Amino acid sequence: MRVTFLGTGTSHGIPVIGCTCAVCASPNPKNRRNRIGVWLHEGPAHTGRDLTEKGHAEAKTSANAKTAGSASHVACNDGAPIIPGSDVRPGAETIASPIPGAAADTTSDRAPQGLSAVIDISSEFRLACLDRGLKRLDFALLTHAHSDHVSGLDDLRIFSQTTGKAMPIYSDNRTLEDIRARFAYAFNPPKEYGGGTPQYDLREVTGVFQVGGWRITPLPVMHGPEPILGFRIGNFAFITDVTVIPESTLALLDGLDVLALDCLRKRPHSTHLSLDQAIAYAKRIQARRTYLIHLTHELEHEETENDLPPEIRVAYDGLEIEIAD
Ligand SMILES: [Zn+2]
Ligand SMILES: [Zn+2]
Ligand SMILES: [Zn+2]
Repeated sequence: MRVTFLGTGTSHGIPVIGCTCAVCASPNPKNRRNRIGVWLHEGPAHTGRDLTEKGHAEAKTSANAKTAGSASHVACNDGAPIIPGSDVRPGAETIASPIPGAAADTTSDRAPQGLSAVIDISSEFRLACLDRGLKRLDFALLTHAHSDHVSGLDDLRIFSQTTGKAMPIYSDNRTLEDIRARFAYAFNPPKEYGGGTPQYDLREVTGVFQVGGWRITPLPVMHGPEPILGFRIGNFAFITDVTVIPESTLALLDGLDVLALDCLRKRPHSTHLSLDQAIAYAKRIQARRTYLIHLTHELEHEETENDLPPEIRVAYDGLEIEIAD
């Protein structure tokens, strides 16, 4: 399995609109960060790019140059709670049917091409797909419903138009309820819509489940006062927007090849890990490699990385890594 980082920035993205700080003004493409998202894929190489870090260091990153950043309704950095949606409309069940345990395998018919999935879907999702070569998608995992993690969900509709199938979206019930409220038009679309509405197949995650050949383990963590999910797929784990990783979840993280871990900035924050806290968790979890994600413009890429032990690196948009079995 390969992992491609589609976005590695916090809710404002980097550069922040209107900011003239050294990081936002930096010519280093690694300091330009889309909102969060990661692409998991297997089979033939999708991008044709050099999978080594050196190859990527030489690659130009252009995604953010084309994006101006869109407003978030409630973004992670605000620390404000989202009100779970209660507007589940009649008709939603025709395309949204939570499956307790979410054990279904709906993608075996596409296995020869290799599975393709994403975790979290930001406003820059479409541009990141174009930049990184993501052309098809089998399913999506959502950690939680803060705006910077779900604002791009409308752009999933192209995949359903191509395949004729609703897109499976896996998360906890709280997040799925929020998706039903935020994207209510997708569950009860007006007949006069010309461009088509997205089709979501919402699937509640209540434990370990399998999609194709991938074993997916939900990782309950605390995002300030809110319980949200990380995910482990094989020997890769993605834990963003976290303040506390409970012991019961730490016990699920043995033997990781790669851990992607929240690291907002050096200063403490009420709903995210600081740099020191992220390093402490990385040393405790002991993945072979840890990549820091969800950074603000207070962390310059090279300066931050130079102070880290070699097994902890700073992720950047477009970084593509092979996960060992
Ligand atoms: Zn800045
Ligand atoms: Zn958040
Ligand atoms: Zn976030």
